[in-house]
Amino acid sequence: MQVCRTISDIRAHVGQFKADGESVALVPTMGFLHAGHIALVNRAKAECKRCVVTIFVNPTQFGDARDLEAYPRDEARDLEMLREAGVDAVLIPPVSEIYPPGDETIVETTHLANILHGKVRPGHFRGVTTVVARLFNIVGPDRAFFGEKDWQQLQVIRRMVRDLHMPLEIVGVPTIREDDGLAMSSRNVRLSPKDRKAARVLSQSLDTAEKSARDGAGIPEIGNDIRAVINTEPRARLRAVDIVWRDTLEPASGPLTRPIAIMLSAEFGDILLIDQREIFP
Ligand code: AMP
Repeated sequence: MQVCRTISDIRAHVGQFKADGESVALVPTMGFLHAGHIALVNRAKAECKRCVVTIFVNPTQFGDARDLEAYPRDEARDLEMLREAGVDAVLIPPVSEIYPPGDETIVETTHLANILHGKVRPGHFRGVTTVVARLFNIVGPDRAFFGEKDWQQLQVIRRMVRDLHMPLEIVGVPTIREDDGLAMSSRNVRLSPKDRKAARVLSQSLDTAEKSARDGAGIPEIGNDIRAVINTEPRARLRAVDIVWRDTLEPASGPLTRPIAIMLSAEFGDILLIDQREIFP
């Protein structure tokens, strides 16, 4: 596995893959890897001949400097996991490589970045599209793989790729969960033992929503059910429950006539966790 720190180094390797006629997958991550990231790698390897992973804790997508500072990191362990998973090349750049001095260009989906979870985290999705556009330009993959857990992020990236005519395909990969249902996240290690236990309530509320939908509930009841389940957990501070039509991302209302996507965010201590589910009528 090639470990690259610079743009020119990763480009040399990817250039060789392409010269050999091989397809290239990209899996962007912020490191501190878990089985969810490895699921993306496995899917990428199944669909492309070569798999490139980036590890970059992107400062522009953090609203809070303390959150950025506290983001967990373990490069040696990450590299071991990626080697084991059969990744071909990893890019671990310093911040100055991605954001050169004098840098001033941003990429933003002006509407989609600022609704739903974008309202809870101002500037977050602008940071995501800005870094992902740069990573796409650096690596030039045929396909890039993103988790459905970050559902709005996936939609924002699809919109950017469509609008800017970027020549690659975006693939969404289902969420990998702990045994008790909690969506895997690099942030989970920062939860206190009590909060870790309490955080199960997110996926439990989505299970309840799915059951209510099967029993014929409409959108308002589904929303109420989710809030009621989360409110049973005093350690959870609910930040947002968004229920949108899956195809338009407009707020859903009335009976469940079309597929919906539910997006949750809640704080446990000072850790913001998110979860998501698509429900079909
Ligand atoms: P992160 O390192 O948290 O920025 O995540 C990198 C990529 O992994 C993103 O596309 C995430 O959506 C995806 N991802 C994170 N957690 C999971 C999970 N539990 N299951 C599947 N994909 C995930």
